[in-house]
Parts: sequence; C-alpha cells; structure tokens
Amino acid sequence: MQAMVSLIRSACMHATKLALDIALPTLCIACREPVDGEGVCAACWGKLSFIEPPCCPRLGIPFVYDPGPELLSMEAIANPPAYQRARAAVRYDEVARTLVHALKYQDRTDLAPIMGRWMARAGRELLESADLLVPVPLHWRRAWHRRYNQSGALARIIARQSRVPLDGDLLRRVRATEQQVGLSRAQRASNVQGAFQVSKERQSEVNGRRIIVIDDVLTSGATVDACARALLRAKAAQVDVLVFARVVDTPKAPI
Ligand SMILES: [Zn+2]
Repeated sequence: MQAMVSLIRSACMHATKLALDIALPTLCIACREPVDGEGVCAACWGKLSFIEPPCCPRLGIPFVYDPGPELLSMEAIANPPAYQRARAAVRYDEVARTLVHALKYQDRTDLAPIMGRWMARAGRELLESADLLVPVPLHWRRAWHRRYNQSGALARIIARQSRVPLDGDLLRRVRATEQQVGLSRAQRASNVQGAFQVSKERQSEVNGRRIIVIDDVLTSGATVDACARALLRAKAAQVDVLVFARVVDTPKAPI
C-alpha cells in the first residue's frame, strides 16, 4: 500500500512538472523571448562575441591575425600585469553586459551555470595546471546588500566543470572601495590598491600554489591585478585570471 501511495505521488509530481514545463516555455537568458532548449536565442547568440584564438598569451586580447606563439600584445609589454595570464569567454558588449547585470543585480543566479561553462571552456589551458580557484571577494557590506557574490557563483560552476577546488574565503576584501565605473585607469588602480589581503594564518594555503582569480568582467584589470598582488605577497607560485567578459577596444594587431 505504502509503495502504491508513493508511486501515485511520484506520478503526480511528474505530471505537475510536465504541466509546468508546458505552461512555462524556456526563455532566452538575455532577452527573455521563448527559446528552444536552454540558453540564449539565435538572435542573442549571434550578437555574443566569443573570444577565440589567436590572442595575446598574457592578456587574452584577441588578435586580428595569428603572429605565432609567444608574441605579446602592445598592452602586455607596456603595462605588464601582476598576473601571468588572463582569459575571457566573451567580449564585453551589449548582450554580455545584459547577462552580467542580470546575474549581478537582478538575482538571476540561473545564468551562472551557462556563463560558468563558457568560462571553463575559455580557461581550459589555465585550468589544466591550476591548484585552486579564488573568486574576487565583495566587501561584507556590499555582500550584505547583494546577498551573494556573482564571482563566487561563477567560480562554483567552473570548479564543478574542471574539478579544480574553490576557496571563497582565502582572499579578503579588507577595505570597501568605490565602484570602478566612471573612474580613469589610474584612479581604478589606486582605488583597489591594498584592498585585498590573505590573512596571516591562511598564507600557507597560498604558498607555492597556482591560483586562478575568477571575476565577471575585466575592464582595466585593476581589480584582478590587486587580487593577484595580494596572492603573490602570500607567495602564490602563479596567479592567472579567468573572467566571463573583457573589454576589448578594437581588434589588436600584435607587435
Ligand atoms: Zn535572446
């Protein structure tokens, strides 16, 4: 009898789920129009620009032609970052901005799995040799308002995909900073200088390890650079950076 009840209950639940699936078509995660399957619709997909090789081996900026391995972009030579390599899934343009804002400000945590999977694909080379993933932390006051850390949500998906472990508490934001939006490159750098730290008692967990810092967007790179400096001060062997989207001004020719 018990078995029969549970069978009926499970059949009912299945029927309810089916009814819900029919009643609620899957929507495009960017424009909210109905879509076949899951993810973004064909129109939004066409507008997303995935970053593919060839690109600068340091900064991950796409090149207009392939100069061969090891040739760096002008930016990487003029302004070498503290981190070793950066990779991004897409360029930060209209659709990418919609996705980032929805994840960050509209509680659209359902976007994290697909965005994280694209990041894991873009960062495959970095993930192969990594020991640990560290999301860019929010200051506790901002985390309190926003309820969750979008970089942490992306890092969880990447950790699951790549089996590289994740530590969301290793790096601390010890100083609340202004929003980076609207600041110049120099202002961005000084705004985040000294904002991140690995506490003394946790430095041994960083020592000698190859770490990937995870963030949603890379604009000037000042935030991830400050994170990399903090991890290198704690004796990380190497720090790489993996973001969902990065600003790319114009296609770059290698030098
Ligand atoms: Zn769409």
